[in-house]
Amino acid sequence: MAKVTIDGIEIEVPDGTTILNAARMIGGKTAPPAMCYYSKLKQTGGYCRTCLVKVAAGSTKDPRPMPKLVVSCSTPVQDGMVVQNMTSPEVLEARKGVVEFLLINHPLDCPICDQAGECKLQDLGYEHGLEKTRYEFGRRKFEMIDIGDKIKLTMTRCILCYRCVRVAEQLTDKRVHGVMNRGDVAEISTYIQNIVGNDFSGNVIDVCPVGALTDRTFRFKSRIWNVKPMDAHRDCKKCCGKAIVWYQGEEILKVSARKDQNDEVENFICNECRFDKKKTADWVIEKPTHIDDKSVIAQNHYEHLKELKMGHAHLVKKLPESNQPEQK
Ligand code: SF4
Repeated sequence: MAKVTIDGIEIEVPDGTTILNAARMIGGKTAPPAMCYYSKLKQTGGYCRTCLVKVAAGSTKDPRPMPKLVVSCSTPVQDGMVVQNMTSPEVLEARKGVVEFLLINHPLDCPICDQAGECKLQDLGYEHGLEKTRYEFGRRKFEMIDIGDKIKLTMTRCILCYRCVRVAEQLTDKRVHGVMNRGDVAEISTYIQNIVGNDFSGNVIDVCPVGALTDRTFRFKSRIWNVKPMDAHRDCKKCCGKAIVWYQGEEILKVSARKDQNDEVENFICNECRFDKKKTADWVIEKPTHIDDKSVIAQNHYEHLKELKMGHAHLVKKLPESNQPEQK
């Protein structure tokens, strides 16, 4: 075990734990943002630089500070290490620079983007972004691409985090998706628009931190803060069958995987659950989804009985005692 202090909070973690995961164990603002690292996928991290932190003391044996900021998603902790995230002005300044770089080519089209309200870059922009860009050149331009009949790629929004590539590599049986070219001409490609028809290809939508990969069955139907998420499950032979169904009135507009406290998918779901099961009768509705996210997605939702009565109480057959919301 190693003792590490992050933003003044000491925690003991197993040897080999990365700084990011140690900070996530503390939680809250102590955990640096991460746009490319994804704990549920292998070989992620190291691309986006948003999780940079300062190591003020390397270890008990060698307490010298590290000379440069380090990438917390791939730097393991050492016993006695002292790390600064939100308490370091240097880190906050660097993060501003990273956000500015990420936004060099990313269009500010949040008003028409389906990811708005649950976009990690939008959150980063609000917290660390500049009010205007210093970039004088035109942004990269791409045609929109249909990846099959269910997924839309808006490459102009892509920040090349590689998460979707890892989903294609690790969850589907045939990878027909990857990053072509390098530098400012790099782009996500399906090799001449081959259709990604794998059973788990829809998960690229959930892991994409921005609105580059969106669900064509949900595009432009509603804003995320206007739809009501409910935990639901079904008996599925291909996946765990546990999902979130997003209601507008009586209609399920979209189905997505459930996410954990780090806003990462808990269990990847199959395309049948995601795209083909859009009727209430397809699902056993459990309870309103708890959204633990600082983004706009957390607005306009409800987990209280009073609101349930006005909303979808008729869909919830019986809440377990432990899930009974407080009466207000
Ligand atoms: S499309 Fe989305 S998930 Fe894929 S590399 Fe671009 S930003 Fe990342």
